[in-house]
Amino acid sequence: FTLLIGIVGCTGDSAQSDTEKSARTQKIDSLITVMTLEEKAGQLNLYVGDMFNTGPTRRTVESERFDSLVRNGSITGLFNIHGAAYTARLQRIAVEESRLGIPLVFGADVIHGFQTVFPIPLASAASWDMEAIETAERISAIESTAVGINFNFAPMVDITRDARWGRVAEGAGEDPYLGAQVTKARVRGLQGTSLDDARTMAACIKHFAAYGAPDGGKEYNTVDMSERKMREIYLPPYKAGIEAGAATIMTAFNDVNGIPATGNKKLLRQILRSEWGFDGMIVSDWNSIGELVDHGYAVNPEQATVQAIEAGVDMDMMSDYYKLFIPALVREGRLDGKLVDQAVRRVLELKWDLGLFEDPYKYSQIEREKNEIRTPEHLAAARDAGRKSIVLLKNENNLLPLPKTGKKIAVIGPLADSHADMNGTWSFFGEQEHSVTFLDGIKEVAGENNVIYAEGCGMYDDSKAGYSSAMSAARRSDVVVMVLGESAVMNGEAASRTNIKIPDNQLALLEEVTKTGKPIVVMVMTGRPLDLSWLDENIPSILCVWTLGSESGHAAADVLFGDYNPSGKLPITFPRNVGQVPIYYNHPHTGRPYLGDYSEPPTERIYLSKYRDVENSPLYPFGYGLSYTQFEYSGISVSDDTVRSGNHITVSVMLTNKGDRDGTEIAQLYIRDLKASIVRPIKELKGFKKVTLAPGESKEVTFDITPQMLAFFHANLEKKAEKGEFRVFIGGNSDVEEFATFFFD
Ligand code: BGC
Repeated sequence: FTLLIGIVGCTGDSAQSDTEKSARTQKIDSLITVMTLEEKAGQLNLYVGDMFNTGPTRRTVESERFDSLVRNGSITGLFNIHGAAYTARLQRIAVEESRLGIPLVFGADVIHGFQTVFPIPLASAASWDMEAIETAERISAIESTAVGINFNFAPMVDITRDARWGRVAEGAGEDPYLGAQVTKARVRGLQGTSLDDARTMAACIKHFAAYGAPDGGKEYNTVDMSERKMREIYLPPYKAGIEAGAATIMTAFNDVNGIPATGNKKLLRQILRSEWGFDGMIVSDWNSIGELVDHGYAVNPEQATVQAIEAGVDMDMMSDYYKLFIPALVREGRLDGKLVDQAVRRVLELKWDLGLFEDPYKYSQIEREKNEIRTPEHLAAARDAGRKSIVLLKNENNLLPLPKTGKKIAVIGPLADSHADMNGTWSFFGEQEHSVTFLDGIKEVAGENNVIYAEGCGMYDDSKAGYSSAMSAARRSDVVVMVLGESAVMNGEAASRTNIKIPDNQLALLEEVTKTGKPIVVMVMTGRPLDLSWLDENIPSILCVWTLGSESGHAAADVLFGDYNPSGKLPITFPRNVGQVPIYYNHPHTGRPYLGDYSEPPTERIYLSKYRDVENSPLYPFGYGLSYTQFEYSGISVSDDTVRSGNHITVSVMLTNKGDRDGTEIAQLYIRDLKASIVRPIKELKGFKKVTLAPGESKEVTFDITPQMLAFFHANLEKKAEKGEFRVFIGGNSDVEEFATFFFD
């Protein structure tokens, strides 16, 4: 059956007759026929532009270094450069001065917004709001295309169950279903309905595959897992991206079960091309072709080149190997020229689909660059995305929302007014001086005179010199808002941590401020699940504000003062301590299930599936998040007790807003397969709905249950549902207990 069919060879030129060939095929055929091997290798060769760092903001240098490379046809394009005039200038050299006039493609990491910076991807996943996510990506595309960028190295869709991994900030968290929905929304947002629209761009699903599962959460580490687990947990978001029409995909740095992803025929040719039918362009990650040598998988650069092309990698980002070695390898008969032609074809198809052959300058528009970047509408969308991403973790005695008037507020912490950190990781283009800090946002609402600010401590030192002014600010105020957590550089690539607490000096500062006895709200800035156990025990109100981008302060103030009732839900489990990692809600049933708390004496059995020194449960489960109102779920029931092939049943629950303000709840559907031929997860997310209710209002929330939702990968990797008994849950987080029972027959 399909999953086991072998590697399908490269198809090479299509069998179509000339008359049937599309304009695209004709154009590309005519080019490939006349291209030299050097020109072919050039079309596969992608370089980074010249940038300089100003803290986390990088700016393009309008370098002349690339002019001759472009003129000679030695590069297919550049990435992480921008500027409409600059990209147009390089494009003009390509089109008018290179022998074949093939236009350049311009790539970039526009990971969460261009100059209007949106929340980091982990944050926006917490909104569970696919419309807001799609809008954010559309705006990213509008702003980037205005300056010439048409190939976005996003979305990153790597599932991760490990809070230690630094790039957890860039993905949608731990769940394959939520991850797949977010991926689709991002691809739709970037690509729209047509790739050749001047305001849309090619998406690039990355990093294929399983880059989010390095051993120990350590960046670039080996990934070793069963194929069944990979297909069930890690592959669905990539597949969803391909199904949503993503034009390109990027390989990963890591090896997967011993074979580096960038030289991995099984991943690229079998799964991606053959099973999933992907016919877009595959780009390597930065120098990951070169790293085939470092992995010890290739004996030398020539072999790495052959391995990458044979595995199906079309475009070489930054290793230079394709450019340096392809021509000689083909001439010497060590590399099949047809494979090279096929890679060139994919690259040229991308350029054609972007409309670059028709109008090479469509993406570099000086007028648009002036008028379509950081517009009030874009900033409003970033603010909206921001407030929807915030998760209320704790709110004792309804300390939140704060009154807008009549209170003095102390704002304390090294992240409260740090412009450099608002945009977060992977924000090359957002100008940090434009970001609205938390302090700015709070002052705007409460008034400058009612806010006393103290930094309290530095981000990276252990000096306590700032504590006394923080204490004095707290004493002179009615309520304290502390902004603590991780800075931008503590997340992202090569930012794995073995300690996932709020940095020591900030925690010590917090402990000190609690001694004033003032009510404290902590806003936690982070790009990963942190160990917030101490806060959960000692602080009345906790908001997870992640990293929210340009409009951080406005979005946070909307929630802090109640203009927006928080609705975010965690897209990833928050552990009690780092020793629980990896911890995730959809773990398989153990043979020795643990029931109850650590403190309870075992009554029925000896429960071994647990730790001795910490409760078994996470601090905050997947899907968790509070509101300023209270939601109650009641009376879950199914329309019929049996799902049959070709048929579905409906499950419904009554959701009521028990509090006294409007609120939005994300109702989550989970299913448990009780008995099966494979040990199944205790719960799996299968759907969610966003429901807004007025005080006292009730609504019935319903979901269909189809046979496809019950299917899983069997030992032989076949995906199908098995007959038997299931439980279905609908609730406000993955810890939901009430269920209805149904059968699949
Ligand atoms: C990252 C990719 C990124 C590329 C280009 C690599 O280090 O892993 O995600 O797209 O650099 O900046």
